[in-house]
Amino acid sequence: MGKLIIFSAPSGSGKTTIVRRLMEEIEGLEFSVSATSRAPRGAEQHGRDYYFLSTEEFDRLVAEDSFVEWEEVYAGTKYGTLRSELERIWAKEHTILFDVDVKGGVRLKEIFGDKALSIFIMPPSVEELRRRLEGRATDSPEKIAQRVAKADEELGYAPRFDVTVVNDNLDEAVAQVRKAVEEFIA
Ligand code: ADP
Ligand code: 5GP
Repeated sequence: MGKLIIFSAPSGSGKTTIVRRLMEEIEGLEFSVSATSRAPRGAEQHGRDYYFLSTEEFDRLVAEDSFVEWEEVYAGTKYGTLRSELERIWAKEHTILFDVDVKGGVRLKEIFGDKALSIFIMPPSVEELRRRLEGRATDSPEKIAQRVAKADEELGYAPRFDVTVVNDNLDEAVAQVRKAVEEFIA
């Protein structure tokens, strides 16, 4: 079994931005592509950003025990890590990166223990989180309100992660994450 690095954060904290930068800077990392029952957003592609499934397909895979973990992150929308993803990435001897919600992050850390490093990306404030989601302009006002409403509860999960990085200045946050990841992989 190889190593795993778990990233969780309230939506809009900058987790995706940080993980993309990290993958450019460190070799041998590969993103675990999750399955989701939500529709693609913007330029998202099936198999690259997510495996986009119908709710029926998702539920069938749950029944077949195909997921390491899954959560209904937003009402009616499920996300999960397929067991086949771990095998696909470890077969290449790469370290797996996860971008999962806070509950999924805690769950994966419980499952993989010392093989996993869990990193919580924290926004400078909930107000700044709202501004970033509005600036990203990928979600409807209702979706943004739903994500912001969830942030307070999600921030409470930070102490259950190995490392917390505040994403205020992006370059500084990337440098902190990079240091933690390099120490863990070494
Ligand atoms: P997440 O994956 O956590 O939902 P994103 O990476 O999509 O978040 O970032 C949300 C928005 O905030 C994006 O528009 C991104 O460009 C912007 N962003 C990310 N980090 C910072 C930062 N440190 N300062 C300002 N804006 C940021
Ligand atoms: P989005 O819809 O913005 O792409 O993602 C919404 C949330 O779902 C994010 O918090 C993301 O981390 C989470 N998520 C994505 N994939 C998974 C997964 O496989 N498992 C869990 N538990 N959460 C996931």
